[in-house]
Amino acid sequence: MTTHGKDTLEIRPLEPLAVEFTSSWHYEAGSLIDEVGTPHGLAHWVDAYRPRLGMDANTPVEMGAQDVTTALAVRQAVRDLLDALVDRGQPPAASLGLVTERARGVRHAAVTWPDTGPRLEWPDGVRVMDLVAAQVCASATRLLTSPRRELLRRCPAPSCVLFFSALRTGQQWCSPACGNRARVARHSARTR
Ligand SMILES: [Zn+2]
Repeated sequence: MTTHGKDTLEIRPLEPLAVEFTSSWHYEAGSLIDEVGTPHGLAHWVDAYRPRLGMDANTPVEMGAQDVTTALAVRQAVRDLLDALVDRGQPPAASLGLVTERARGVRHAAVTWPDTGPRLEWPDGVRVMDLVAAQVCASATRLLTSPRRELLRRCPAPSCVLFFSALRTGQQWCSPACGNRARVARHSARTR
């Protein structure tokens, strides 16, 4: 996800949840904007991703400083794994351990089937951020261990920190905006 200069979050429905969560920050006019770096920003992100998280429209989303700490730790750990995958290296053991442990949280969820269609039911008392962390980390473990991982790319555009899936043959950038910026940067490098 990225705002790319816009005020609303830009949800990429075809990206795995884990890739979207690692993309919850972006550069804007040279400074890094963290979309989940404050309780308010994190709550906004989770609210926007309710359908992807299996969250009911009625579940209240209130986030505190502790939840932000959890979110940032999860994002860093998932990024470590995606970096290792793209770079064909080994991730830090602590990051792999965190993602594995958090992914186990999905065992608390059950699929229920009311008239409105199937949904995920979580037991009362589960912190919303724990639910988010479980879903994001379960998504990461599925991505890392499935053929889908071959599509994962780190966007090479200047000042872009996003991962994306190359869903089109030869896709090089996370977005057309990044492709344009990279072309402009190449052009000005040539003419200097
Ligand atoms: Zn990009």
